[in-house]
Amino acid sequence: MYSIAIDGPAGAGKSTIAKRIAKELSFIYVDTGAMYRAMALYFLRREISPDHIEEITALCPQIHVTIEYENGEQQVILNGENVNGYIRKEEVGNMASKTSSIPAVRAALLDLQRDMAKTADILMDGRDIGTNVLPNADLKIYLTASSKVRAKRRYDELTAKGVPCDLEKIEKDIIIRDKQDMNREIAPLKKAEDAILVDSSDMTIDEVVETIKKAFQKKCSK
Ligand code: C5P
Repeated sequence: MYSIAIDGPAGAGKSTIAKRIAKELSFIYVDTGAMYRAMALYFLRREISPDHIEEITALCPQIHVTIEYENGEQQVILNGENVNGYIRKEEVGNMASKTSSIPAVRAALLDLQRDMAKTADILMDGRDIGTNVLPNADLKIYLTASSKVRAKRRYDELTAKGVPCDLEKIEKDIIIRDKQDMNREIAPLKKAEDAILVDSSDMTIDEVVETIKKAFQKKCSK
């Protein structure tokens, strides 16, 4: 069984790249950010402030997040409800970045993530996969890009969907999220010592995919 860990900041293109590579290598793709988003959605629906750590901690045992696959697409199930249609909003991502710093929230998802890697060839993306979830991953990638490039990509994505948005506000949110994710006490976002750094600021998706696939073939000759 092989495992590939891809970590990096918001908007670095992790999920687009990871989905492509997983498909080409016949790996199962696990988007761990979606699990943190599902937990955040639960708290948002109950209008709980992310500062209410005790209340959030007390609620964690009632929250069951699981993953299913439909036509190869990951579906996140929150207490029996498929929430894929609700977790992509900026509001949910921003809440996830805050609530993911709470120990009980991380503990609720860690075992599930580790167990998934025991059952199949897995490509997992997130913030702490190489450093914490799968420290023995066969290949670790730290995928990043400048905040300007990441904001522009997000802006283009939203504009293409017809969602009105503001480039400067997107970049500001990205910088805030990076700060939160990199400075929290448990499992902060950082490059694992043995991860390969890929800066995609001036690379196409194809170039990033090829770079990572080559790195995997070199390490694992699959
Ligand atoms: O990757 P995505 O933007 O969907 O992740 C949402 C949030 O979930 C991140 O900003 C981060 O705070 C949190 N997260 C995490 N650890 C992971 C994946 C995501 O803390 N492995």
